[in-house]
Amino acid sequence: MDPSPSMEQKPQDRFGRQIRVQEFGPKGQKALAAAKVAIVGIGALGSRVAEDLTRAGVGNLVLVDRDLVELSNLHRQHLFDEEDAKEGRPKVVAAAMRLGQIHGGTQLDVELVDLRPENIEERLEGIDLLIDGTDNFQTRYMLNDFAKKEGIPWIYGACVGTQAMAAFFAPEGPCLRCLFPEPPPLAQTQTCETAGVLPSAAAFTTMLQLAWALRYLGTGKVPEPVLHIGDLFEASFRSMGFPSASLKSCPCCNRGIYPGLDPSQATQASPLCGRRAVQLQAPPGTRIDLPALAAKLQEGQVLQLLPYLLRTRFAEGEITVFADGRAIVQGTDDPGRARALFDRYLGS
Ligand SMILES: [Zn+2]
Repeated sequence: MDPSPSMEQKPQDRFGRQIRVQEFGPKGQKALAAAKVAIVGIGALGSRVAEDLTRAGVGNLVLVDRDLVELSNLHRQHLFDEEDAKEGRPKVVAAAMRLGQIHGGTQLDVELVDLRPENIEERLEGIDLLIDGTDNFQTRYMLNDFAKKEGIPWIYGACVGTQAMAAFFAPEGPCLRCLFPEPPPLAQTQTCETAGVLPSAAAFTTMLQLAWALRYLGTGKVPEPVLHIGDLFEASFRSMGFPSASLKSCPCCNRGIYPGLDPSQATQASPLCGRRAVQLQAPPGTRIDLPALAAKLQEGQVLQLLPYLLRTRFAEGEITVFADGRAIVQGTDDPGRARALFDRYLGS
């Protein structure tokens, strides 16, 4: 009996159709197979990029996520199915199971962790490229500052509602802080929970992330510093050029200061004994416009709005936010899960 078709094929058999692309070629394939890429956030963006890079034959993928698969993820997040949601599997675990079946040649590093200034260096050691699949600004600014400090390119991506955005930040070019010095106030940020999201918005963002990743990893070519913005309902697209040089006032680019890597500037989380609740402590000086924050929530989610607190209800429990940024997330003992719920429902 003939043996089953071997999986140990030569790269030109398996990846022949992309090797044949002149701009990429066998050199591109070899470079991709030697590359180590970290994807932070394995949701609507990260799951798609992870699948496409694995299919393309990337050598090593670091998958970083702190959250579990839920039924409400399945309309836009690849790699997961109903059983993953029923079992409440961690996203990185479910993703690695599928990716391992797709291409055994990609080495997977599974990081079920809440990425923080205290652990980012250790978890992302030795990577060639960093891809943003996160849903919150606090983590994005940490990624920006880490990438700038370490001299690693990173690819920003975001989608909410019908909107999609993506940009490639090269180590020698301007950074996210040059474009937007500070993250937007909490009350102004929309999340997939408050504004919803179309799968097409995720697809547009990851299409650009994948395009840049393949080009950079395969050839070393860095794209122009441009922010691409798409509306996937209107199917309209525009781009915004970055300043040609980094801003003189940018702490990362010009002063060697990386606020996103300073633990005292990150939200601290501590479980509250016996209460199945976690307290989140925002950095000193934080002020939150509670009425504006309440205004972006859905009807029925606001339980109480007082001058000093906002109490909200979600499927998983309650979140109480105080005007100084402190919050109590009820319904979990796990700090990472509490932070994930806060970012999902209220943004950060
Ligand atoms: Zn900068």
